Amino acid sequence: MMEKTAEQIRYDKLGETVAKALRKRFFDAWYFDNKEAAVAQALSLIPEGTSVSWGGSMSIVEVGLKDKIQNGKYKLIDRDTAKTPEERIEIMRQALLADTFLMSANAISEDGQLFNVDGNGNRLAALLYGPKQVIVIAGVNKIAHTAADALERARTIAAPTNISRFDVATPCKITGTCSDCTTAESQCAQIVQTRICRPAGRIKVILVGTKLGY
Ligand code: SF4
Repeated sequence: MMEKTAEQIRYDKLGETVAKALRKRFFDAWYFDNKEAAVAQALSLIPEGTSVSWGGSMSIVEVGLKDKIQNGKYKLIDRDTAKTPEERIEIMRQALLADTFLMSANAISEDGQLFNVDGNGNRLAALLYGPKQVIVIAGVNKIAHTAADALERARTIAAPTNISRFDVATPCKITGTCSDCTTAESQCAQIVQTRICRPAGRIKVILVGTKLGY
């Protein structure tokens, strides 16, 4: 086995520290130093035959979870199967009652709080209420030192990076930085800080010792 780098050793320590902080706030939380173990943990939490949906997230793609759930064992609620814009909206509405909702977080503070920004708000609606459980997969790159740093990360790194996936005309798409816009197409219409998981254990956070998403 290859020796771990100094960076990986730090990730292991930080991941365990933040998982512990999350558990103190009633999230279920784990840290894994590799993607495969993280995906195995996520799959172990999803009973076969139950419904699964997800929000826009590069992390669940990059970790390999989105591929793994396409195995016929789950009832997938997938907006990308819609044939019309109306059907897409209807599927997004159904996702709010999925048994399991998969997503990442835009930032996580070291004291165990989640920070997320959203344009339409469907991803955050599911985080707040509806699905029986929410599984959050996040690379250690999402961890920020303080709550203020995490909010800053969500707004000045995650959102201006994520914007490249959308056909919108926001200032950050041109400048690469946030100018706190109030445009109709702003991807930061909603900003949510999840201080505590209620009911306890409904949100399950799986931290991974690698870079995932933005
Ligand atoms: S410029 Fe607007 S859309 Fe872009 S990150 Fe800032 S608030 Fe969000």
